[in-house]
Amino acid sequence: MPDAFADLVGQDEAVQTLRRAAAAAAAVLRATDESEVAAGADPGGGMTHAWIFTGPPGSGRSVAARAFAAALQCVHGTGCGECPGCHTTLAGTHADVRLVVPEGLSIGVNEMRALVLRAASTPSGGRWQVVIIEDADRLTEAAGNALLKAVEEPPPRTVFLLCAPSTHPDDISVTIRSRCRVVPLRQPAAEAVAEVLVRRDGIDPDVARWTAAATQGHVGRARRLARDPQARVRREAVLAVPRRLTGVGAAFDAASALIEAAEAEAEASVVEVDAAERAALETALGAGGTGRGAAGAARGAAGQLKDLERRQKSRATRAQRDALDRALVDLAAFYRDALTMALGAPVSPVHSDTAELAEAGARSWRAEGSLRRLEAVLTCRAAIEANVKPRIAVEAMMLALWKG
Ligand SMILES: [Zn+2]
Repeated sequence: MPDAFADLVGQDEAVQTLRRAAAAAAAVLRATDESEVAAGADPGGGMTHAWIFTGPPGSGRSVAARAFAAALQCVHGTGCGECPGCHTTLAGTHADVRLVVPEGLSIGVNEMRALVLRAASTPSGGRWQVVIIEDADRLTEAAGNALLKAVEEPPPRTVFLLCAPSTHPDDISVTIRSRCRVVPLRQPAAEAVAEVLVRRDGIDPDVARWTAAATQGHVGRARRLARDPQARVRREAVLAVPRRLTGVGAAFDAASALIEAAEAEAEASVVEVDAAERAALETALGAGGTGRGAAGAARGAAGQLKDLERRQKSRATRAQRDALDRALVDLAAFYRDALTMALGAPVSPVHSDTAELAEAGARSWRAEGSLRRLEAVLTCRAAIEANVKPRIAVEAMMLALWKG
């Protein structure tokens, strides 16, 4: 049976909360006068105008937000997955559902103001205006303030759905948090992820089980690893790092290789869309035009092209950091495998294909040495997050991994 929540893997509690809220929201719409509002509303249903979906990457924050948006627009009020409201929301074409996906390192104030303004208009479909903000932790302070005003006094038919890693003040301001209902998501179990890869994407069960474990229950990465041979090559290169660290020179080489691989991966992911954007803007600006007014237009055009280049650069930096972070997560899991083996913990390794290597590491490093190496990788991630230059952080990590 189709269902808007079907792709939200291993999150039974959250799905229950959201279904109940969607039913309460539908009751609000059905009620035409005050008394019916009182009679029709489910006070425990907890429908409210602002929500935060939190959880680790891959837990399905944006999947949850989209599914809930579909349930709000569903003509049956349930998220049936089949009606036009569900269908267009899930396909990203519903006129009253806006999705903000930050492409650069932050969401700016102008973007947020425009969004808040549009969100205040009457929903054309007669239900709700829904605004989904992915990576709300990347709001600039000014953008956060613009959003806060809207969340404090929400238009009656507007719903904001924010996605963030946590409700820590570093991720989301305390004042915004205080106006929102929080839906915590957890890391889905690898078996649940494998099941959805088989059912939804038709991936071979053995491959699905392996990739779900190797990506630690990250649905999107698991699917990519199963489907994209390039992703497998990149992962193998990362997992070869511990073997390659035979000296200082090798540590620096490994750092360069890791950085360059992340750059190449990021480049490949943005190069096409960059070129398409530039071509579209140049066409819109009538590049190469001559005659009256062409000189003035060219000056304005240069400014717009500069603006586009700035945005593209920010997006490329973000893509590089994301690619590097994925590599570091894989590497951290290798040392975590060594640590659990050294401790004799009864858990399966994340990377079953490098289990022998981790086992050998566990024997020579013991638990203390494995833990120090795991910490070196996590310290590197934290340093990059705190804006240390990636190459410097990665070189420091490789040296620490080599020295142990
Ligand atoms: Zn529906």
